[in-house]
Amino acid sequence: MDRIDLKCLTALELSDELATLGEPKFRAKQIYEWMHQKLVVSPDEMTNVSKNLREKLKENYAFTALEQVAKLVSKDGETEKYLFRLSDDNVIESVLMRYHHGNSVCISSQVGCRMGCSFCASTIGGLVRNLSAAEMLEQVYSIQRSSGERVSNVVVMGTGEPLDNFDQLVKFVRMLTDEQGLHISQRNVTVSTCGLVPKMRELADLDLAITPALSLHAPNDELRKKIMPVANAYSIEELMSACDYYYEKTGRRMTFEYSLMEGVNDSVECARELCRILKGKNCHVNLIPVNPVKERDYRRTVVTNVLRFQKELEKGNINATIRKEMGTDIDAACGQLRRTYMQAKEQS
Ligand code: SAH
Repeated sequence: MDRIDLKCLTALELSDELATLGEPKFRAKQIYEWMHQKLVVSPDEMTNVSKNLREKLKENYAFTALEQVAKLVSKDGETEKYLFRLSDDNVIESVLMRYHHGNSVCISSQVGCRMGCSFCASTIGGLVRNLSAAEMLEQVYSIQRSSGERVSNVVVMGTGEPLDNFDQLVKFVRMLTDEQGLHISQRNVTVSTCGLVPKMRELADLDLAITPALSLHAPNDELRKKIMPVANAYSIEELMSACDYYYEKTGRRMTFEYSLMEGVNDSVECARELCRILKGKNCHVNLIPVNPVKERDYRRTVVTNVLRFQKELEKGNINATIRKEMGTDIDAACGQLRRTYMQAKEQS
């Protein structure tokens, strides 16, 4: 049987688990803080825990740690891209972005992805497996350790569909924002989904104050089906009603992501249609000139047309910003570093 991973246990679960070893509650609290506040990589570092107990922990439990395979820093120093190896040899990527308001880390939620979006590099090899809550946490912890700087924002926008790994995602959010852990504000945690409607509703029913983002990328079903297979399962009408439900339940403003692809979804007509479907919503649109992926032939919309699109949204009273590009010189975009690494490995 697989050993229980100590880093995957919430404070309460850890307390219950250690009680089976006859350990008191305060000891569980100390150990939890070693892992989730002091970010130690091994029980050996827990200096106020007896050697005897440390040995027991090492013998009987798993303790997730990521091995840093590569760290690439962009020329301007604002972006750092990390490649981590998991205990089963899979690799995942995460990104640190330094903004004036603080450090933001973009994490992966799965190894690969099965959603099949046609413009995305992360899904090309399909889904390998879900990440555990500890493996998601460790991406943030490892980057905080490696950079020596506090992480204040986390975006779940790396490889994978977070709502396709729902239980571990929710656990991750709870532990990341726990006051016994890094205590990042829930408002500073963004979870992006391609639109798994039932899971969006389930998420709305939980008591979380996270910021939701929906990858829309098209203003009608016909076009969306061409670029996102998930659109065959859920219509835009169903999506919009799930967004309304989310807003009613949580009061959190929704961000709609819209990757602009030349000649595909960047016309003035598309912008007008987008205004019609978002009309009256308390929302924000993030326009992202698509990052060209070499296996696909999408081209990014030229700047003048990005601005034209934005203007059209503003005319319709829809608030829209153009995403600042970071780290393109280090393959930071959307699963490309992991792919480059795996291809190099295959060829060697
Ligand atoms: N599966 C989730 C989160 C991961 S993708 C989701 O779909 O939201 C994070 C964001 O990057 C999504 O909006 C996704 O559509 C977008 N994206 C993926 N590939 C891209 C590319 N090549 N260029 C621009 N945006 C891309």
